[in-house]
Amino acid sequence: MIHSLPLADQSPPDDARDHLLDWTPQQLTTWLSDCGERAFRGKQIWQWIYRQRAVEFGEMTDLPASLRRALAERFVIFRSSIAKEETSPDGTEKLLIRLADGGEIECVLLRDGDRRSICVSSQVGCAMGCVFCASGLDGVDRNLRRGEILEQMLRLQRRLPAEQRLSHIVMMGMGEPLANLENVLQSLDVARSPDGLGISARRITISTVGLPVAIDRLSRHAVPYNLAVSLHAPNNELRSRLVPVNRKIGLQPVLDAADRYFQSSGRRLTFEYVLLGGVNDSKTCAAQLAALLRGRPVLLNVIPYNPVAGLPYQTPSDAQIKTFRQTLESAGVNVQFRQRKGSEINAACGQLRRHRED
Ligand code: SAH
Repeated sequence: MIHSLPLADQSPPDDARDHLLDWTPQQLTTWLSDCGERAFRGKQIWQWIYRQRAVEFGEMTDLPASLRRALAERFVIFRSSIAKEETSPDGTEKLLIRLADGGEIECVLLRDGDRRSICVSSQVGCAMGCVFCASGLDGVDRNLRRGEILEQMLRLQRRLPAEQRLSHIVMMGMGEPLANLENVLQSLDVARSPDGLGISARRITISTVGLPVAIDRLSRHAVPYNLAVSLHAPNNELRSRLVPVNRKIGLQPVLDAADRYFQSSGRRLTFEYVLLGGVNDSKTCAAQLAALLRGRPVLLNVIPYNPVAGLPYQTPSDAQIKTFRQTLESAGVNVQFRQRKGSEINAACGQLRRHRED
């Protein structure tokens, strides 16, 4: 199901007002005090945005009318627009978001039992060049600002009825979150804050291609987010073919950095493995993978490939998936085969944008 939407809650492209979601609470408090307003107004404004889901200052009825006017002259709340939206029968919703400069990114809401998880982008495009992924086919345009990351979360929260709240966040949309770590961490601070979305760090996962220096920075940040490392191959030769940044980094330094993250955060690591038919789905690959993960307290998340038009990769057959799974399970690996939720709406990384460009 595809709709094109004329939306009232977006600012015109040449809007010179600041994006309020880019501002920290401290910056807003300073601005309020410069305007002669009391500091508690800041908390009220954030609560209107994150809790009451306000999209315009006019909705903030417990603020003085003069303040509402001053805010609307100085700021916009939503800066992007929804270029396209798709809903799949299992309740998955995917948004293609057009940013103020015309760049396009994707984000997804997944409904699963009581869970209301969102998958959020961190960059326009991606520089990592994973050969099977739609997001990086044209390289990276730029990092997203903190407000642009937060706006995806708010737009997805608005898809839920008022009594439902977002429960989980995964930084698994377009881009490499650890290549934009500062803005990602700032936006997640707001996601965790009781005045923000109030989602605990334990329910937030950062997924990375595996950049050891940035993983160490994340360890020092000392907020126990879950870390998922996209492995995709059990040896250097194959990984360098599928994940080109591996040529400069190598598999072992990625595993070492992941081990250090586990030691500092105490959070069980996840390794992700996209299963590509005839490429990395052999019994030998499964056995090598089991040997690599032995002794590591990790969850292996195997994701059958979601085909991307124009790329020569395929989803493995059910029989191949079964053999791969049995080999891992009999070696004692803690493995989970992810359901392909939302695959009918191009819900894998970068696919919706690609589809539209075609
Ligand atoms: N750059 C980060 C996060 C974005 S990708 C990372 O590499 O982890 C999120 C996950 O989706 C990665 O594991 C990625 O390999 C996987 N992915 C990308 N394209 C896919 C596709 N077509 N089918 C299945 N999984 C895909």
